[in-house]
Amino acid sequence: MDYLTLAQAYEKIEATSKRLEMTDMLVELFRNVPESEIEKVVLLTQGKLAPDFAGQELGIAEKLALKAIYEATRVNETDIQKLWLKEGDLGTVAYEAVSRRKQTSLFTDTLSIGMVFDSLVQISSASGSGSQDLKLKLLAKLMHDSSPVEAKYIARTLAGKLRLGIADMTLVDALAITFATKQDRDRVELAYNTCSDLARVAKLLAGKGLSGLSEIELEVGIPLRAMLAERLPGIPEILDKLGGKAAFEYKYDGLRIQAHIKGEGVQLFTRQLEDVTGQFPDLVDILKVAFKGKSGVLEGECVPVDINTGEMLPFQTVSRRRGRKYELTSAVDEFPVMLYLFDCLYLNGKDLTQTPYTNRRKKLISCISEADRVKLAEVLVTSDADEAEAFFQKVIGKGGEGIMAKSLADDSFYKAGSRGWHWIKFKRDYKSEMNDTVDLAVVGGFSGRGKRAGRYGALLMATYNRDEGRFETVTKLGSGFDDDFLAALPELLDPHLVKKPHRLVNSAMQADFWFEPSLVLEVKGAEITLSPTHTCAWELVRKGSGLAIRFPRYTGKVRQDKAPEDATTSEEMLALYNLQAK
Ligand code: AMP
Repeated sequence: MDYLTLAQAYEKIEATSKRLEMTDMLVELFRNVPESEIEKVVLLTQGKLAPDFAGQELGIAEKLALKAIYEATRVNETDIQKLWLKEGDLGTVAYEAVSRRKQTSLFTDTLSIGMVFDSLVQISSASGSGSQDLKLKLLAKLMHDSSPVEAKYIARTLAGKLRLGIADMTLVDALAITFATKQDRDRVELAYNTCSDLARVAKLLAGKGLSGLSEIELEVGIPLRAMLAERLPGIPEILDKLGGKAAFEYKYDGLRIQAHIKGEGVQLFTRQLEDVTGQFPDLVDILKVAFKGKSGVLEGECVPVDINTGEMLPFQTVSRRRGRKYELTSAVDEFPVMLYLFDCLYLNGKDLTQTPYTNRRKKLISCISEADRVKLAEVLVTSDADEAEAFFQKVIGKGGEGIMAKSLADDSFYKAGSRGWHWIKFKRDYKSEMNDTVDLAVVGGFSGRGKRAGRYGALLMATYNRDEGRFETVTKLGSGFDDDFLAALPELLDPHLVKKPHRLVNSAMQADFWFEPSLVLEVKGAEITLSPTHTCAWELVRKGSGLAIRFPRYTGKVRQDKAPEDATTSEEMLALYNLQAK
């Protein structure tokens, strides 16, 4: 299949924000893709070259990309540079330059999907001496053979900024409709949640239909998508929801880790499915000793600790470990961590995700010998609200974030990749006059005044509308910033500057700066109100109104563990508003 067909489909998809229309367009596209190319098409559509856990990173130095565009088009270099400064998007630069190309060569190849995909892999993986030349040559060849639309999407993909606004679940719907029926979407989602690889799911579906999905099983070494929790404002409500009795677990505040163990081999993944084994050699050693089974998949929270006092440290300390490739040995000593395990998803060849919580907890107890640096999450099973409240107070007293209530029902399975009422979180902040914390994505900024002159003064924050794959503004955040944070903001935000509201951002407000959603901050608000100026949950409560957070305050926590798409959803905001309205 030609890459042009794909690029033209992307143009159409990008022009709509309606999930159903997008799904129809994807179905039309998938129907025409040969089976041998469906994996590549799905990955390209997600803006990836491999599933997240494979660690295949995209990205190219902007200078190199601009040079390749110049070599392919011979459009004046200064003009290309100007265009880049004006647009800040490699895709637009490539589109414009290819459109303005003086003459088309007789020797262009028609770009097939395979050719584009393979070249992108080669460009992204090239390293060592001579790699710059190779990247330049390969990209210039792609640009040379491209029409303007093709050039646009190739450049964006390579920059790691394709972001068509298609939620994974829209792809799941489209795959189900194309290769099975709409009613089978849950089965398709389950397969995706188990293997975290939509391209693999698509290939099996295209080749063997729905029955092909039975080949997808939980495997050691392949992370499954993390189960998520709902929230409720009080312990009585939680007990009520969970049938009168629940397991209340300590909610540790650190980095979620999914550990895959087989014999001597240990692999660690984050909630974003990133392989972080290399950053936690100490956890690997600890698990090798503590784990008594032959093979297993365990989940827990990795928390920084002060080795001298045994006290847990703020969550941010763990993040200092991440991304440090070179000074790892000193980081391991400087920032020691503990692992609190809370689930067992697989043990000795058996998938436990479809067994109830109580059974999984028993298996967890059976396969772990606790040691100094690895413990099981503290738990209290009770039907007594006062007892649960006392447990909550104890956790808060020790500096914990809150508690996680877990259902004891017969069907309290591990629901990979989805939120469900089998896990309910209850955090400290919910208690004080509805002072919730939410995790919001930064989408815009305002110039500072007074003491903040010359800096960012406030930020425009957004929730994520999962159905539409869009970010919706919900508040202007200016308090809770200390000097260090204000000074760090340019470094955190400037790489994501864009000239106008990012196409995934739905804003009715004018900001001085706009960002591609990337940074997620924890924010505490006093109340949620209706607002004509914010687009969160637009017109879901009242015509002409969205939702806004009043008196927002930055808590000091950058949610490095969350991608912008993991920010609090507009749907959750609506639920919080409704809870509060009660
Ligand atoms: P939140 O990030 O606020 O949505 O809360 C969910 C997160 O709490 C999970 O992703 C885990 O990283 C973390 N967590 C801490 N302790 C537990 C626990 N005992 N059970 C489940 N998740 C936990």
